[in-house]
This record gives sequence, C-alpha cells and structure tokens, in this order.
Amino acid sequence: MRHILVEIYCRQCGYHTHIKSHTLVKPELEPNLRKRILHHTMFTFECPHCHFKTTFVHNFLYHDTARGFLIFMSKDSDAPESLHKQFPDQALIQVNDPVELAEKIRIREDGLDDRIMAQIKEILRKQDPEVVAIRYHDRDETSKTIWLEYIYADNSAYKAIADQVYEHYVKK
Ligand SMILES: [Zn+2]
Repeated sequence: MRHILVEIYCRQCGYHTHIKSHTLVKPELEPNLRKRILHHTMFTFECPHCHFKTTFVHNFLYHDTARGFLIFMSKDSDAPESLHKQFPDQALIQVNDPVELAEKIRIREDGLDDRIMAQIKEILRKQDPEVVAIRYHDRDETSKTIWLEYIYADNSAYKAIADQVYEHYVKK
C-alpha cells in the first residue's frame, strides 16, 4: 500500500543501500505481510554480501479493521492525534519495535487485551529476577491456558498461566 525508502548500513561489512518498506498494512488485504510481521521477517534486511541481518524501525501503522484495532509503531513519536479522531471506536496501541508489534497482534487476535497482558507480565517479571523479558506466545482454548515465553540471558522457556489469572485482572 504505502511505502517509505529506508537507508540501510550493514554494521558488519559496511554495505549501503536503500530499500522500500511498507508504512501501512491492513491484514485482511495483505495476509502475506501479516505473516511476515508475525515471523519477524518484515523489518529485517539481510545483507547480500555477508548475510548479516539488520532490523530497522520506522513509523508504521497496522490496521486490523475486522477486529477493530490499530497498532502504531515508532521509535520516538506518539500515535498521531488524527488516528484517535478518525477511529474513535477502535483500540489504538503504541509499540516501539517489530517484536512488540508481532506480540501485540498475537494478543489481540487471540481475543485478549494487551493492557491486561502487560500488567500480568509485569507482575510475573518481578517474581523471577533472572528473566530478561516475557513474551506472549499463544492461548490454548482447550486447556484454558495462556502460554508465555520467558527469555533469559542464555536460554528461554515456555510457561503457562491459567485463563483464570487473566480473567482475575479483567475484573479488577
Ligand atoms: Zn554486510
């Protein structure tokens, strides 16, 4: 849909180029781009010389009209005020990087509220001083559990919480 030219410098070999990148994605129209975001290949450039992978961030909008949410990604600016006005009934979510973007899409697509997940993750983080980050993985409807990935300095592990824990915070 809409594009921006991004300047890329390979940190490993100094290769320099410009690439075209999307600034707006509507998943119902571009399911392949949705997949690339979820698989962390969308905002990544692989150097043709040395194969070093560079991740880049620019202002970007993901708009899921069917589920009614917008995610604005930016390194340093807030979501434009005009978006609130244009889509007053839709959730407007702010993220800083592509990893966070993919995580928030998964949370919303699984029918969960990212603000409540953020609250739960914060509490869980405090209970585990070794953990570097906790990432949402998925929701298992059959066993009524939510799976999280705990990222440590040199490994990671999947841990589950019961749906009830989530619901407890919804009610609060
Ligand atoms: Zn390179």
